[in-house]
Amino acid sequence: MIRPTAPIALALAGAFLGACAVPAPRAIDVAERATLVEPLQPIASSPARIAPAPTPRSRHLARAVASAVDARGLTSNGTFESRHVDRAEMERVVREQVARELPAEVLAHEESAQKLLSVIDPDENYLDLVFGMLGSQVAGLYVPREKALYVVDDGVSSEGSADEHTVLVHEIVHAIQDEHFDLGRRVEWRPDGGDETAAIHALGEGDATLAMLLDTSRGEGLPSTFVEDFTSLMRETNRRQVGARVPSAVADALVDPYVEGLRFVWSLYSVGGWPAVNAAWASPPRSTEQLLHVEKFASREAPVSLSTQPVAPAGFDLLEASVAGELDVRDWFSAFVEFEVARSFARGWGNGRTELFGRGSERALRLRIRWDEDASAQAERAGNRMTRELVARFGRARAVGAFRCVERPRAGPLAWASSRRDLVVLAGPATFENGHAASTSSCASLAAWAAKTPPGHR
Ligand SMILES: [Zn+2]
Repeated sequence: MIRPTAPIALALAGAFLGACAVPAPRAIDVAERATLVEPLQPIASSPARIAPAPTPRSRHLARAVASAVDARGLTSNGTFESRHVDRAEMERVVREQVARELPAEVLAHEESAQKLLSVIDPDENYLDLVFGMLGSQVAGLYVPREKALYVVDDGVSSEGSADEHTVLVHEIVHAIQDEHFDLGRRVEWRPDGGDETAAIHALGEGDATLAMLLDTSRGEGLPSTFVEDFTSLMRETNRRQVGARVPSAVADALVDPYVEGLRFVWSLYSVGGWPAVNAAWASPPRSTEQLLHVEKFASREAPVSLSTQPVAPAGFDLLEASVAGELDVRDWFSAFVEFEVARSFARGWGNGRTELFGRGSERALRLRIRWDEDASAQAERAGNRMTRELVARFGRARAVGAFRCVERPRAGPLAWASSRRDLVVLAGPATFENGHAASTSSCASLAAWAAKTPPGHR
């Protein structure tokens, strides 16, 4: 719920982003590779052009299947179709897939959460923002339910081109994952399953991206620094391509599964080859904490204890509650501080919860983060820095019990309190109806709610 686009990304597990269409890793250095990334075409204004019904598979597809099987080291029964679509048609497929895979209220809840947490502007049309971004970035998609591969043919990645081959290999590896590891079922949306499912989704994207890169390296293998270079290039390229309207925290969330998935899969692969990656599918990471730190995956580090009992403002009902995982927390911090700083704050994550509450059209949110026993220094640094950033952005903070609170005229009051290993954030109430956001509360009226949820509370 905190991390932008997270449920959409799940609905699209198996997508391929244009941003990762980097040519052969043999390319000499990162700078050179960056210049080779083709700018993506604008969304076509012409009516959707749908490829004709699948014909006997083309030579190109057969070649891509052989490459994917060879690079990934697993067989394929080949029971999937491939369809070429233009960009407008891909955006339609993406919207359809999201509508089919997610309960209707999930995206509305996410929109409220993003606004209450000041990740996006309170008046932003979140769905337009996100689908616009996806429409320009998704270059391929595997839809498990249909057993179908969609590949954008925009003149760059045209049929038979090297780019098309790369996209096909990535998508075919998703089909292979579906066949061997039941990808489609394992990334289905479920209530409060977000953090664990995000880790499995990233495993899938890292696996498909590595196989694709091994294929482009044509048997030469990948240099040890490659993954670090590739993932930072991907993050930068994506930020540039999504355009200025998209906040970088939202843009980064889109590439998290690829970037963090590739780091994770690479750290397994470089030690134990594909058998080590297959073993991770048999017993996958349980949290994004385990995904982000392979040593915590190895030791199966579990979350620390944190109450799951929601605490609502008077008169409000719980709409949705979920784990705020390490990746969620990092991406939220990164809406306020530099990426590396956000990463260091989130390290030592012990557990976290978000709860979204509603009363009529009003929305309010409580976020709790608890660090590990030995990470109270990070907790303190994060608390102090967030105080500076929030005051700089929203003006003077006043004391409300143990909390400090700033007024936001369109997103409602924002209050936070930290104590040793804990940070508690209360946001709202506010309304975000029909593109018109307004606070329905103030710091003064937050006191009763704040008193019920002191930091450090079990
Ligand atoms: Zn993918």
